[in-house]
Amino acid sequence: MPEGKPAYQRCVQLDDENRCQLFGLPERPAVCVTYAASVEICGDTNEYAFVQLEALEKATRP
Ligand code: SF4
Repeated sequence: MPEGKPAYQRCVQLDDENRCQLFGLPERPAVCVTYAASVEICGDTNEYAFVQLEALEKATRP
């Protein structure tokens, strides 16, 4: 995504199991490499993480 990932848009690099296809590769964006995942944001299920991500995207909407 050359212009960055817009809010509410699924990253094109996610596979069908919501795993980053660029993980471990030099092409992975620096912002993704430096992001430190946390239990507070990610939880332990996709459903929990998506609720947190939606709240963050709403809170940071321009
Ligand atoms: S880590 Fe970055 S590149 Fe990978 S799926 Fe998530 S947003 Fe996309």
